[in-house]
Amino acid sequence: MKTEILYRKGYYGEFGGAYIPEILYNNVHELESYFLDVLSSPDFKKEYDHLLKEYVGRPTPLYHAKNFSEKYKATILLKREDLNHTGAHKINNAVGQALLAKRLGKKRIIAETGAGQHGVATATVCALMNLDCAVYMGQTDIERQAPNVSRMKMLGAKIIPVHSGSRSLKDATNEAIRDWMNNTEDSYYLIGSVVGPHPYPDLVARLQAVISEEIKYQLTEKFNRSSPDYVIACIGGGSNAAGAFYHFIDDANVKLIGVEAAGKGIHSGLTAATLAIGKPGIIHGCKTYLIQNADGQITEPHSISAGLDYPGIGPLHGNLFKTQRAQYLSATDEEALEAAMELTRKEGIIPALESAHALAALQQLQFRKEDIVVVSLSGRGDKDLNTYINHLNY
Ligand SMILES: *Cc1c(COP(=O)(O)O)cnc(C)c1O
Repeated sequence: MKTEILYRKGYYGEFGGAYIPEILYNNVHELESYFLDVLSSPDFKKEYDHLLKEYVGRPTPLYHAKNFSEKYKATILLKREDLNHTGAHKINNAVGQALLAKRLGKKRIIAETGAGQHGVATATVCALMNLDCAVYMGQTDIERQAPNVSRMKMLGAKIIPVHSGSRSLKDATNEAIRDWMNNTEDSYYLIGSVVGPHPYPDLVARLQAVISEEIKYQLTEKFNRSSPDYVIACIGGGSNAAGAFYHFIDDANVKLIGVEAAGKGIHSGLTAATLAIGKPGIIHGCKTYLIQNADGQITEPHSISAGLDYPGIGPLHGNLFKTQRAQYLSATDEEALEAAMELTRKEGIIPALESAHALAALQQLQFRKEDIVVVSLSGRGDKDLNTYINHLNY
């Protein structure tokens, strides 16, 4: 895969690496030594592909949204990750990593979750594969994502509330890493995005790359061309974007657009737009951009969508930003709500609030009428119904 050019020894340009306490060295090293061999082994591929097809429901449609196309005066295609089992792209990664954990002989899975989507995906595959499952979740997120908490419990996961810091994703990640440090022998840390120490960003990107692999052949089938003019995806840690970009990174004709959550506005102090206002630093074992104050302390991010509420970003995106291979826009809470309502009313699809940020970017771009624009519809909106009901007047 050509992204290897961008990616050497755990670094994407100057970003990435593995900044970990010594106690985790063996585990990270074990993972690094095996993951490429496992991922390319026929036995893994067969089981992974089978589960993606029969269990997750792939390939997901590349839906030609005619009403949106008319409005935005270009061909707008929605990559329907919302139709996956458990409602988002997260399951692609969870299935793959759980299969990997089993091959490493691990019996217990540790995960962190923000919106609860990664927690649900992880609890789901643990039920399927008979693995113990501990999910760390900030108390604030537990309150705003109650239906997903119930789902995880029903699936047999142990939910561990985190009361430190902003009691959201960043803090849940810290606690998950702490658990892993204390249980390195039997436990596998199943990270939910293209973040964390090497090799996680690369591992997760490869598992999500199925998204762009499908886009390529679906475009060929439908439009007789294998690449679009634009790929647009929202960015929390950056995994649905990494998956949607993956096979197009080396094709300079494809414009790659990431959309961060501006929250109440980039300069409002209540934002999660990491690349817009962040500076390089180290978070959760990896060098990347992060939102920090003058002393280098991580500041609390804000977004109306729990899945984008992360103060860092995957190192792959740090590099695509720095080298200007991809362009990063942002959408506010308000703009995301409006975009969600627009998709709902025009196409009859209620998107996740995260995905609505990617849709909001359509307004910020100028298309030619012959442009083919793929938007990653990363998840469905069921989990966000309360937020929608509280914020929208209709
Ligand atoms: C978790 C989540 C995201 C953000 O995570 P990425 O790693 O940036 O993809 C986006 N959309 C949905 C629906 C999510 O659940």
